[in-house]
Amino acid sequence: MSKYTYHMPTQLFVGDIQNHAHAFQGFGNQAFIVSGKSAAKNGALQDVQAVLNGLGIGIAHFDQVEENPSVQTVETAAKQAMACGATFIIGIGGGSPMDAAKAVAVLTANPDKTSATLFEATPLPALPVVLIPTTAGTGSETTPFSILTRHDTQTKASMSQLVFAQKALLDGRYMEHLPEHVTLSSAVDALSHLVEGYTSTGSTFLSDRLAEGGLLAFADCMEGLKNRAFTPQLREELLLISALAGMVIAQTKTTLPHQLGYALTYHKAVPHGFACGLLMTAFLRVHENKGKVQRLLKLLNLTHIEDLEAFLNNIISLRPTLTQTEAESFVAQLWQNPDKLKNYPFAISQEMLLSVYANSLRMQ
Ligand code: NAP
Ligand code: FE
Repeated sequence: MSKYTYHMPTQLFVGDIQNHAHAFQGFGNQAFIVSGKSAAKNGALQDVQAVLNGLGIGIAHFDQVEENPSVQTVETAAKQAMACGATFIIGIGGGSPMDAAKAVAVLTANPDKTSATLFEATPLPALPVVLIPTTAGTGSETTPFSILTRHDTQTKASMSQLVFAQKALLDGRYMEHLPEHVTLSSAVDALSHLVEGYTSTGSTFLSDRLAEGGLLAFADCMEGLKNRAFTPQLREELLLISALAGMVIAQTKTTLPHQLGYALTYHKAVPHGFACGLLMTAFLRVHENKGKVQRLLKLLNLTHIEDLEAFLNNIISLRPTLTQTEAESFVAQLWQNPDKLKNYPFAISQEMLLSVYANSLRMQ
């Protein structure tokens, strides 16, 4: 029997936060909330504040997290968290604030360390983290990963420190006014987590069953996404699929579409989910486990890779242009880090990576 560990320690609370006030107890009496600007507009911030006030827990709030949060932003936030004596961190928002919250939790628990240690292998303690997703796609609430923008290396990178949220609260109502392009991009991110996890050599019996459930549920959402019919039911289902897909990559990690997609986000401002989605079918075409690829198409109620391509073309309206030199430099950068190129049941070459870009994007 193959040997592996299944680890996803986050306790999930589904539904109205007010009914789950106890989720915020046991972490001390000073909360530090990490968010962007939308948390104050979609009701999530007010709900969290009301619960914390009711419990007599102090609140400090950093609302300056940008999309694709930078290391500099988490450093600034961590200084404020230390200054207020934070005993736990609450992240409210999409993947950007949730990922930032995890990095803030590490830096705040280690005031003598610099942000460089976020990318070092030696594990560090972190303050407890509670997450409230307000987009449906990253699954950051069920993964230990935090993706930060590194201007020093000019790309996005996963923090080496792994931080699972202790609790996560899932309430689809916060997404009522989520803009169309964020709804679509984050849905494609969740799909990409399921597809990459399912076709990774890191997949296990357990992660595959989760991925299969997620792919089946995603199939039910595809018509609503195509028609832009964002009903409360669709939003709720996508939120749960996103959490499920996070549980998958928490075991398998992400693979090529994510690794090649980060450069498109950093250099071409392509939203994260769209970046992965643009590369997904070219990746599946070079994937040598054709049986698994066929099974995942079937679970999505599709027959051919072209059917998935047609769906993604309907959802993703932008297609950036890449020069050959840009593509080569993105591949060369990725190539320097062999760790990022594991988890494939086939040999990866620089030519193959270039072909994935060339077959997905407009090349100049
Ligand atoms: P995001 O960057 O968190 O948010 C996108 C936009 O949507 C922001 O302008 C945000 O505003 C707005 N927004 C968020 N929730 C809203 C709501 N309920 N109503 C209205 N507007 C709302 O996007 P995301 O796709 O969720 O996260 C992408 C990030 O997650 C990337 O950095 C990606 O690399 C990372 N990621 C992490 C993991 C992981 O395992 N940790 C996995 C995949 C991706 P505000 O910023 O003002 O709130
Ligand atoms: Fe992702």
